[in-house]
Amino acid sequence: MSDKSVVIIGAGMAGLSAAYDLKRAGWHVTVLEARSRVGGRVYSLRDFSNGLVAEGGGEYIDEHHTRMIALAKQFNLSLGKVGSWQGQNGDWGAYENKAGRLTDESLWGINLETEFEKMWSALAELGKQVADPSNPVDGLNARELDAKNSLEWINTQDAHPLARKMFVNHIRSEFTCEPENFSLLDLARNAALYYSDPSSWPAAYRIIGGNDLLPRAIASQIPDLHLNAVVTSINIQPEQVTVTYKHVDSFHTIRASHAILAVPLTVARMIDFNSSLPAAHQKLVNEISYGAVTKVMIEYRKRFWLEKGWNGRLSTDLPIVYTWDATNHLEGHHGILTAYTGGMPGAELSRLSDEERTKIAVSVIEKLFPGSSELIVHTATIAWVNEPFTRCSYMAYAPNEVTTHWKALFTPAGRLQFAGEHATVIQGFMEGAVESGQRAAKNIIMSAQE
Ligand SMILES: Cc1cc2nc3c(=O)[nH]c(=O)nc-3n(C[C@H](O)[C@H](O)[C@H](O)COP(=O)(O)OP(=O)(O)OC[C@H]3O[C@@H](n4cnc5c(N)ncnc54)[C@H](O)[C@@H]3O)c2cc1C
Repeated sequence: MSDKSVVIIGAGMAGLSAAYDLKRAGWHVTVLEARSRVGGRVYSLRDFSNGLVAEGGGEYIDEHHTRMIALAKQFNLSLGKVGSWQGQNGDWGAYENKAGRLTDESLWGINLETEFEKMWSALAELGKQVADPSNPVDGLNARELDAKNSLEWINTQDAHPLARKMFVNHIRSEFTCEPENFSLLDLARNAALYYSDPSSWPAAYRIIGGNDLLPRAIASQIPDLHLNAVVTSINIQPEQVTVTYKHVDSFHTIRASHAILAVPLTVARMIDFNSSLPAAHQKLVNEISYGAVTKVMIEYRKRFWLEKGWNGRLSTDLPIVYTWDATNHLEGHHGILTAYTGGMPGAELSRLSDEERTKIAVSVIEKLFPGSSELIVHTATIAWVNEPFTRCSYMAYAPNEVTTHWKALFTPAGRLQFAGEHATVIQGFMEGAVESGQRAAKNIIMSAQE
């Protein structure tokens, strides 16, 4: 074991970003990855026809996600532009047995887009209650806000009931939990970070050819990366960290001067820390809340939605919650609609078989667009809570959890650093995973210089 050695658990964007920076700084890096592929929740599916690709996991790279964009450039990957996540021309709703453009007043009796803008404005106001989104717990009203759930706040807003329903779906889609299980402090923190100006929304991108080209490219720079290596035990000691992993049928132990834990805490719960984790970290690992999400991706031989003046984006009270066009950054006849279902509906769809889940998504779209199912070429689906090395969508703070766990998330556990989409201010995003990995690497490099 050298003084400058690091074992990294998990080859998602967090673990790989850390490995890349440490390797370039001259450290000996070993990456242990449980799956037979790298990328974790960045997982591009390629079984569609005509070379089409759809993202099973992390999809949108916002224009302010500068680390992701810089890495893509560094590895010569091209980005395809898509519209903003918050709203686009041609957005539809399907509520209370009606379906059509949000702006269609003859259908809804009101302009739903304008009504929804009231929710965005209210969100911007809410964000003003968090002075520093990178340190939400020291604000004067932090505990009070954290004790509340986001549904209470939604229900007090002066907007049309359908706009409030749409906002519930926004929470289910962006945070993948039910609003009653989502801390109002974290909603306010996110509002301060991303929603302070409701008059301009950022554009977003996907990597042409698949987002997972990026983790694969980074992994190609890390020679000591082991796939199918499931970490089962970690012991943090004063001078080193000992990590045991299972590879096929045998167990192996390695020692390093430092370690980075870059796995979702839902799977960290299954690792034996040999009582070496500080109590606050063990509590965090055991307790923090996560959301649930499923995707069903349906390839059609014709982008029939464009003929209807629909851009593919739909918010609905039907069981699939949300849809979008997964191929709107590409030209072509064939196109893929993704049904994205988070929160309780996502948990419910996760309990079904892949076939049943796909059938529901197809039938919802068929109901809204009769004849569309005859155009289907291929389908794919993934329920992330069922993935043994993920078991969640991403972290979603329940009431009181921000004030309980925030500090531990950002404090190293001795020689073990936490990284991952949960251990960052930019939580829930690929960008956040990269930020956490780069920060963990920097902390280790700096600690060796002290
Ligand atoms: C459906 C979905 C949609 C999303 N959409 C977006 C989006 O549009 N934009 C965006 O920016 N983000 C999005 N995200 C979030 C984004 O994908 C994640 O924040 C990010 O990829 C997480 O990276 P990570 O490195 O923290 O974790 P992961 O990618 O989960 O990596 C952890 C790695 O650890 C491995 N591992 C687990 N247990 C062990 C073990 N015991 N031993 C060894 N290895 C282990 C796993 O196999 C995995 O490879 C989405 C996520 C999902 C699920």
